Amino acid sequence: MKRPILLSTPHIGEQELQFVQEAFDTNWIAPVGPHIDAFEQEFSQVVGSQYSAAVSSGTAALHLALKLVRVGAGDEVFCSTFTFIASASPITYLGAKPVFIDSDRISWNMDPSLLEDALAKRAKVGKLPKAVLLVHLYGQSADIEPILESCDRYSIPLIEDAAEALGATYKDTSPGTWGRAGIFSFNGNKIITTSGGGMLVSDDAELIEKAKFLATQARDPQPHYEHTEIGFNYRLSNISAGIGRGQLLVLKERVAARQRNFEIYQEALGDLPGIQFMPKTDYGTSTNWLSCLTFEPKIAGIDREQVRLKLLEKQIETRPVWKPMHLQPVFADCECINNGVAEDLFEKGLCLPSGSNLSDEDLERVIFEIKNAYKSQ
Ligand SMILES: *Cc1c(COP(=O)(O)O)cnc(C)c1O
Repeated sequence: MKRPILLSTPHIGEQELQFVQEAFDTNWIAPVGPHIDAFEQEFSQVVGSQYSAAVSSGTAALHLALKLVRVGAGDEVFCSTFTFIASASPITYLGAKPVFIDSDRISWNMDPSLLEDALAKRAKVGKLPKAVLLVHLYGQSADIEPILESCDRYSIPLIEDAAEALGATYKDTSPGTWGRAGIFSFNGNKIITTSGGGMLVSDDAELIEKAKFLATQARDPQPHYEHTEIGFNYRLSNISAGIGRGQLLVLKERVAARQRNFEIYQEALGDLPGIQFMPKTDYGTSTNWLSCLTFEPKIAGIDREQVRLKLLEKQIETRPVWKPMHLQPVFADCECINNGVAEDLFEKGLCLPSGSNLSDEDLERVIFEIKNAYKSQ
């Protein structure tokens, strides 16, 4: 049996352990400490945001962001449908309801004109959403500018889910830094990891300060424990922040390795009939967090599931692209502004092994087995 090749696994560098050792040596083994402050500052510099708050997950960061733009019970939030559930579930934590917006084929992300039309219709009937939650999927930035213009026209705050897009660019800036707030994730399978963690970024000092307050049980400034509102236990630990500082030092290499995976796959497989790789936009660079492609069964003679199962037999883990939120049973009662793109991508799309620690041999094995799957049809 050959060694399994997995979709995306943690890839630790050389300095993480030193930062963690420092935390041990100084006994900062808590969700406070010098690594947290340093990690936030270093992160802000990397993405070009004014302020950052390190938290326990990307999901927690989104929950705080939505709460801080005052999403509450009975509200609606417009949200990308083509995403992982963690984009949408925090909307429901607040008693609000997602309305899903479909993708375009250029970026696979929220279609700006679909959003504009939906907002215009809602404005007419006086039922605008409380926020727009925009996802930058698989490390590719959505076309942020027109989306932000639409949001501004109706005075609706934009929240960006850049969990998969740390190191991507949009017009030479980082996605996640354009809206009122943005979030990133350091889960084990993301571009860099803290073994679990997230970051909330914003240029609004007050928003970030309030986020830190809410993330530490909303403790009022009193010598005793005084509370005038309900908070959360969402801060990142000083140990995890130490890992994050080490990971930030190798971020560029990690992104370059994932982009290289994509290039190698595309070069080797791009000409096979019926295959299309996730398109590249002309306004930015993707992190290629996962290398994705679609199989058009009528042309390819083989469908996505057949390819996935053949690879699985060979110990190669691949996965269908995200199942759109509006197709999820849990969101069956939610509205979707649907143009069929996300559903089509879900039917045909596959994510290939994409870790920054894959060897050339691993990549060759994946390529070889996909070509084999074609031949065996
Ligand atoms: C991973 C991910 C999240 C959530 O991040 P966690 O740190 O796992 O909570 C949110 N949105 C997207 C698109 C993600 O891929």
